[in-house]
Order: sequence, then C-alpha cells, then structure tokens
Amino acid sequence: MPGVMPPSGPQSPVGAQRLATQTGVITADVPILIYHHVGAPYHNQYNVPLNDFEAQMDYLAQSGYAAVSVDQIAAALRGQGSLPRCPVAITFDDGYADVYHNALPVLRKHGFKATFYLVSSYINMSKQYMDWDQVRALVDEGMFIGSHSYNHSYITSTVGYTMTRQIAGSKAKLEANLGISVTTFSYPYGATNGFVMRVVSDTGYVSAVGAGYSFHQSSQRVYNLRRTAVYNDTKLPVFISRLPKRGPDGTGLCPLPPQVLYWRQLRWIEKVG
Ligand SMILES: [Zn+2]
Repeated sequence: MPGVMPPSGPQSPVGAQRLATQTGVITADVPILIYHHVGAPYHNQYNVPLNDFEAQMDYLAQSGYAAVSVDQIAAALRGQGSLPRCPVAITFDDGYADVYHNALPVLRKHGFKATFYLVSSYINMSKQYMDWDQVRALVDEGMFIGSHSYNHSYITSTVGYTMTRQIAGSKAKLEANLGISVTTFSYPYGATNGFVMRVVSDTGYVSAVGAGYSFHQSSQRVYNLRRTAVYNDTKLPVFISRLPKRGPDGTGLCPLPPQVLYWRQLRWIEKVG
C-alpha cells in the first residue's frame, strides 16, 4: 500500500512483525482461525475431520507460524506490544467436548496455545460440552479462555439486563469458576454493532472477535477482529489460500528466520559431508 510506513521507536522491537501505520491507524495481517467441532462422530458443516485438523496444524508448525492470543493481537494493534514474525490465533467457539478430546492433543504436540470461547451456561450442560474440570485443565495448560456469551443469543437483539448477562454475566461466571481474568469476547453469530462493542469495552474486555473471512486486522477493529472460519470441507489447499501470502512463491508459507535456515543448511552439510 502506498504511504504505509512501519512504526518506529520502542513499539517496534527487533524481530517482531512490523505493523503498518497510516494516519495513526495500525494494521497487521494476522489470521485468526475459527473452529467449532473437531473430529466429532457426525457430519456437520462445522465439524472439521481430525485428519484435516492435523494437516492444518502441521502446516502452520512447519511454516513457522507462532500461535498467539487474541489479546496479544489487540495489544500490538494498540501499539502496546509486539507480535512474532508469523503470528496466528487459533480459536474454538462454543466449548464442545470433542475439541477437548480431539484438538487438544494436536495443539499440545505443536506447543500451540489456542483461545477457547465458551458459552458460560453451556459448560457442564451435557456430554456434548466441556465440563468445568476440562475447562480448568485448559487453563492449567496455558490455553486462553474467552467468553462467547451467556447462552449464545444474538447480542444485537438484547437490551438492558439481558445484554448485561450475555456480556458481563458470562465473564463473571467464567472468572469466578476459573480464577482467571477473561478479557476477550466472541460475538455469537458474529453479530455486533457500535453500541454492543462499547458495552463490551466498558465491561473490561480488551478484545473481541467476529467473522469476516479476512486476516487484515486494524487498530480500529480491536472489538471486532476478523476471523477465518474453517469448515468440514476446508481442505488443505483452501486453508493455505486463506493465509497471508508471505512466501516468495506466493504461498502461505512463512519464511523461516535466517538462524533456522543456517542450522538447516549446516545439518544438510553434515549429512552430505
Ligand atoms: Zn457460537
């Protein structure tokens, strides 16, 4: 983009991804992936087969992506922190138990920390959803917890107490049961507006996510960050096509840092020699 300048000063640490600024707006290309079910035993648009999920996570790991929290992305967009060279946020909405059983071991294998947006009244509700012990286990593993409302309502259609319960009540319930601060929110159905975003901000959240099929993030959208949904039929080439084009060949491949390249070359020389 013409006229886009990298920021200077202490907010642009060496090695971190440079964030573009234009007329005071900070932007960054950071994919935030949304998953719902992983490897559930039924066919559903929102259920990503386990082997596809494994291939997607393998691809991110092999391409040099580092998994970050949504709050870290929001902080970097506010100029209050940095991002790694190739950041990605992996998020799961709704709190399904199949994600705990199937996706968690894959995340663990790669050392990826993901964000779990939970519907506070669904926890412990049935076997389909995680129970509190499972959610506490996520916290103990260093996973990030966000609120996905109290009962998955269209928040734009709620007013007064019912809106407070969706935004503040869900936060309070998660915090009381988990002993952590919950500072990121996911709008059910991606539905939001200026008023809802202001309530989310006033409630103490520092970031919020919606929908949007884009990885272009901006400091003007920290309460409606864009996410890319991964569905049942999102095979690897499609998945890759939705990531930023970083590689010299126009693929989503994140170039490896020079140090890693050096070690790879050295190992190759040792092998050949
Ligand atoms: Zn949802």
